Amino acid sequence: MRRQPLQCPFCENLLRPPVDIRFKSLEITGGICTCRAVYVFDRRGHNLGEIYLNALTFLCKGDIDRALMLMPEDFEEETLDYEIHSNTISRREDKSGRTGKLFFVRLKNL
Ligand SMILES: [Zn+2]
Repeated sequence: MRRQPLQCPFCENLLRPPVDIRFKSLEITGGICTCRAVYVFDRRGHNLGEIYLNALTFLCKGDIDRALMLMPEDFEEETLDYEIHSNTISRREDKSGRTGKLFFVRLKNL
């Protein structure tokens, strides 16, 4: 499997590893790119529904009501396999479920 350094899927900026963030009611492990994309780490890759909502809420600056009103056409999303120890990503689906996932979202038209 080809791995590459953690990079934003939207602007190709190299990114720092996700960090623990507490923001309003959110507790996530993630970060923000200079292109305003946000990313949230799902350590076990099992919890994408919750990660999805957390990422959208983070994107909406903690406003969960606004996050719930977002339409799929309002944002772009990308999910990458992520290895936190080496800070590398790959796009291949890992069916074993042992790989963590990084979920990226970015609002369009901003
Ligand atoms: Zn970016």
